[in-house]
Amino acid sequence: MLLTLTHCKHCRREFAATHGNRDYCPNSNCQKAKKAATQKKYYRVGKDVLQGFVGNYRLFEDILRKADSKTVGFLDFQIQGFDQNGFYGSIKDETQKEWCLVKDFAFHVFHRTADNKTYVTIKRIST
Ligand SMILES: [Zn+2]
Repeated sequence: MLLTLTHCKHCRREFAATHGNRDYCPNSNCQKAKKAATQKKYYRVGKDVLQGFVGNYRLFEDILRKADSKTVGFLDFQIQGFDQNGFYGSIKDETQKEWCLVKDFAFHVFHRTADNKTYVTIKRIST
């Protein structure tokens, strides 16, 4: 194995980096710091996704009040508050289109070559 020397992000001491351990040395305090940094990162990502998810849900609920599906321009939709990353999980339909799941709704982002624009189709799904 090739060992490279690097400086620990926490204590600044030099240590031999191994695969999967490049930023923090094996010292227990530094491993604790590493764990805390990772959890903070996941928490932040999770919170952003949750905010996007809730925002999307409210937006879809409003738009699909009178219809089961609707296609809207991506940019206009973003202005209304649509967040492309606000979903949990995705499914593929019979035509291999990917639908991102937002509770009772799903959306699919696609590019239309005819007018060279991006659109979003949202639809109500039965769960
Ligand atoms: Zn260290």
